[in-house]
Amino acid sequence: MDNQSARSTTDIIERIKLATSRLRKVLGENRVSEKTHMYEITTFESNTKVSAIVFPETSQEVSQCIKIANEFKVSVYPVSGGKNYGLGSTVPNVSNSIILDLKLLNKIYDYNEALAHVTLEAGVSFKQLEQFLEDQGGKMIMDSIGSTPQASIIGNTVERGHGMGLYADRLDNVCAMQVVLPNGSIINTGFARYSENKVAKLSKWGLGPALDAIFTQSSFGIVTSLTMWLKPKPKYFQSIIIHAPSDEKMSFMIDKFRQMRLHGLNVSMRIFNDYRLVAFNNQYYRLKQESQDYLTQDDIDKIKPEGTGKWIGIGGLYSYSQLHATAEKEFIINSLKDHDLVIDIIDKEEADSRVERNPSVKEELDFFYYKSSFTGYTTDKAINMCYWRVPQNIPNQKDIHEDECGLFWYCPSIPCTGEDASIAVNKIKEISYKHSLEPNIGFLFISERALDITGAICFDKCNLEESKRAAQCHDEILESLCELGYPPYRLGIQSMQLFDKTEASSMDVLKKIKATLDPNNVLSSKRYNTF
Ligand SMILES: Cc1cc2nc3c(=O)[nH]c(=O)nc-3n(C[C@H](O)[C@H](O)[C@H](O)COP(=O)(O)OP(=O)(O)OC[C@H]3O[C@@H](n4cnc5c(N)ncnc54)[C@H](O)[C@@H]3O)c2cc1C
Repeated sequence: MDNQSARSTTDIIERIKLATSRLRKVLGENRVSEKTHMYEITTFESNTKVSAIVFPETSQEVSQCIKIANEFKVSVYPVSGGKNYGLGSTVPNVSNSIILDLKLLNKIYDYNEALAHVTLEAGVSFKQLEQFLEDQGGKMIMDSIGSTPQASIIGNTVERGHGMGLYADRLDNVCAMQVVLPNGSIINTGFARYSENKVAKLSKWGLGPALDAIFTQSSFGIVTSLTMWLKPKPKYFQSIIIHAPSDEKMSFMIDKFRQMRLHGLNVSMRIFNDYRLVAFNNQYYRLKQESQDYLTQDDIDKIKPEGTGKWIGIGGLYSYSQLHATAEKEFIINSLKDHDLVIDIIDKEEADSRVERNPSVKEELDFFYYKSSFTGYTTDKAINMCYWRVPQNIPNQKDIHEDECGLFWYCPSIPCTGEDASIAVNKIKEISYKHSLEPNIGFLFISERALDITGAICFDKCNLEESKRAAQCHDEILESLCELGYPPYRLGIQSMQLFDKTEASSMDVLKKIKATLDPNNVLSSKRYNTF
């Protein structure tokens, strides 16, 4: 380290000390912590150091914290649930940041059944809202998530994460954000920026330029609350499970579901491959032969339960009445029949009768029907796959950081066509096998026009050679899919350089917004930017 950088490091440390001491005075001793270790862990190697963690309780306190950050010119990084697994967890993009952990902003209010909305603060988790809605009589449901129930709704929304049901595009179905800007001022978006009006929580854009989206995947503000739109609990919900025997049939299925959605059928769908299905319940080290570096398709074919397709579609069909439900089920079956797909559509009567005949299927039907994440329930079942290459057994209490689970997500967006899905799958398989890793691939209908790929690279974080290969595999998949015309819709903290592909004129606008809102560059430095 030369003299100049040694001086500047001392300078940063001194400023952080002064800032934390001021934060202690404002928030109290017990809401500032220097136990940073847990916040420096993610699902891949990271050397980023966190300086302190603070726990504000209100938007006003968040504002005070960021004003102090400006005064001492130190970086702050907000986390809401801190469960951004596979993409960076709680680790900031730059070292020497103070984390604003928003978990104490945990209020839920203004629940409205008639107009189907609820307002919540940044720390509210999916589990908390699920319980809250149950406590209100279980008449309304949220759009749930595939991740841990402890993930936060606002953290997921600002990352432009996705749900399971018809409101899978999370950002599309929220409004009235309250945002603390990097200078500490507090603003509201949409109609919420006008006092005394009845539509702030109902109509998204308000009057004039709309601001909501600029606070997502950005470093322009801290979202402290928002209104989330809900759905009435569906009376005629049917669960759809489809097994497709080949990539070709998976393509066919995607084209068919696109058409159904374009024609207005209320159906949501996630499709994933057998590698992912096997990883939900099994672990690599228990399945592989000694000489093997990775499991091939042939291996997976031998391991997976009989009748499992190469691709599995799991979805929800939401009908208005029993008549609609019967007709829509028949319509789906007719649209897909004669194509070697195994189709199972389960309604309440069918679920009840299966349980009556064989009570041991109750747990399975809880997952697929009674407590389906397509009807607003949360589950941590999918977290099992993070243990795919970890030598220890999957524990009951899962803590993927503590248990050294290695995980990278790659998240390209592709057109909603079977042809594009096949092109992407071929490329992902080629690169995964080249790096001796299993292609664990999922597709999600984010709309009827585009699919979000959710690709997971699971590895053993304690194995340095494997970790390196996993990182290379991740980068190569993202780069190659970009070249094919499939850019990422979301990035991990280690991949922000891909943001540089943004056209120069747009980058210029973004830089100007950042410089105006955050002249000291104190908020989430280098998050979705490299300037
Ligand atoms: C098995 C598995 C399944 C998954 N399934 C899904 C899925 O179905 N859908 C999905 O979207 N993701 C999924 N994920 C990824 C991830 O776990 C979720 O996206 C999760 O919601 C992110 O964590 P969080 O909500 O706690 O957000 P946080 O970790 O709190 O936030 C994420 C990032 O957003 C920023 N941020 C947080 N709060 C604020 C704020 N208030 N204001 C401004 N910026 C903020 C920070 O930079 C932070 O790092 C899955 C992960 C795994 C391992």
